[in-house]
Amino acid sequence: MGASVAYHLLRVDPTVDVEVIDRDLSLERSSTIRSDGNVRVQFDLEENIAISLYALEVLERFGDEMAVGDHRPDVAMKKQGNLFLIEADGENGARQAMERQRRLGARVEWLDGDEIADRYPPLASDRFVGGTLGPDDGSVDPGAVVAGYRRKAESMGARFVEADVESLVSQGGRVAGIRLADARERRSDVVVVCAGAWSPELLESADISIPVEPVMRTVYVVSTDVAGDLDLPSVFLPSGVYLIPEHRDTFLIAWSKEDDPIGFDFTPADRDRFYDLIWPELVAALPAFDRLEVKRSWAGLYAQNRLDANAIVGEWPGLDGLYMATGFSGHGFQQCHAVGRYLAEKTLGLEPFLDLSRFGPGRILSGEPVFEHAGRII
Ligand SMILES: Cc1cc2nc3c(=O)[nH]c(=O)nc-3n(C[C@H](O)[C@H](O)[C@H](O)COP(=O)(O)OP(=O)(O)OC[C@H]3O[C@@H](n4cnc5c(N)ncnc54)[C@H](O)[C@@H]3O)c2cc1C
Repeated sequence: MGASVAYHLLRVDPTVDVEVIDRDLSLERSSTIRSDGNVRVQFDLEENIAISLYALEVLERFGDEMAVGDHRPDVAMKKQGNLFLIEADGENGARQAMERQRRLGARVEWLDGDEIADRYPPLASDRFVGGTLGPDDGSVDPGAVVAGYRRKAESMGARFVEADVESLVSQGGRVAGIRLADARERRSDVVVVCAGAWSPELLESADISIPVEPVMRTVYVVSTDVAGDLDLPSVFLPSGVYLIPEHRDTFLIAWSKEDDPIGFDFTPADRDRFYDLIWPELVAALPAFDRLEVKRSWAGLYAQNRLDANAIVGEWPGLDGLYMATGFSGHGFQQCHAVGRYLAEKTLGLEPFLDLSRFGPGRILSGEPVFEHAGRII
């Protein structure tokens, strides 16, 4: 988010003085680096759909747009498609969402159970009446995206500084800058807090409380008996279990659960959690995955927005000049392009290209959620 905001600010106004401060510029523990890099147009909310359509558009031209000299970043886009499998009681809702996605220009198709079994034999299952396939969806390398934004922003004059931000500084109802852990201060009348799952602790320093928690999610790298050269899409089960084809017989598999630990611990959940909890759920839905082995796993943090699991983006009411981009829960990587541009335009006083005001921080104060799928962690 930080690198994208920086790039978009300088794209709009090359004279802006932009500094991106991160306590670890290797981004080793950032959610971005630990994400699956998946992009999908299959959301319910029009804003989320529009954000992803914009992401697909930007990713198509990313290499050209972010080229610096001879260096042209390659985001390794794999357009394997995303398939959401649907049970009978979910069919109406899925078809309505599909119509909304199509109306906004997304390519999404309905496949009934037989078509899924014909096209993708390992996904044959009695449990599903069909599925919605977004053929343009796919995964990219998150590291290449963030490096692309950073390199380009630096070439345009942004400074990337490794330092620990301790607190926000305000004066007379507006933000005045930030204070670093070594007590140095940076003065600025615009500050954008995009500190991922660490955002709440930074905002606390200005007495701003948001319902975002660092929730640890584990991704398992699993080798299976299912041949990955079948051009399988990424698959999302109604329960929330998902599998993303990695290469040959290897898949990334995960399931976000309510009891996932809260905190800044990056130790992945143990393998038994996969074998005892996720595997039975997976095999009950897709019997072809009855032989597999966990090869490795990693954990990263969702900045989980407990109000409605959606982004919190915009200026905080009551502290002029203080903007935030956080609470993205499980879908913020794909949102960095649109949110970066939106915040650049907002902070520079321009009419934003997309209206994301529904995700504004004001709803935190009024306690009005904007739900995507009620009850499902996304
Ligand atoms: C396992 C997993 C899988 C995911 N898969 C997907 C996916 O497929 N698609 C998708 O769209 N999203 C996915 N997400 C969500 C996505 O990763 C995040 O929403 C997104 O990357 C958030 O980006 P960010 O820039 O806000 O935060 P981050 O990438 O976490 O960056 C925050 C940065 O702030 C820095 N920082 C924090 N506090 C301070 C401080 N006080 N001073 C200085 N620096 C500070 C940190 O060092 C960090 O580098 C996934 C997340 C996880 C954990």
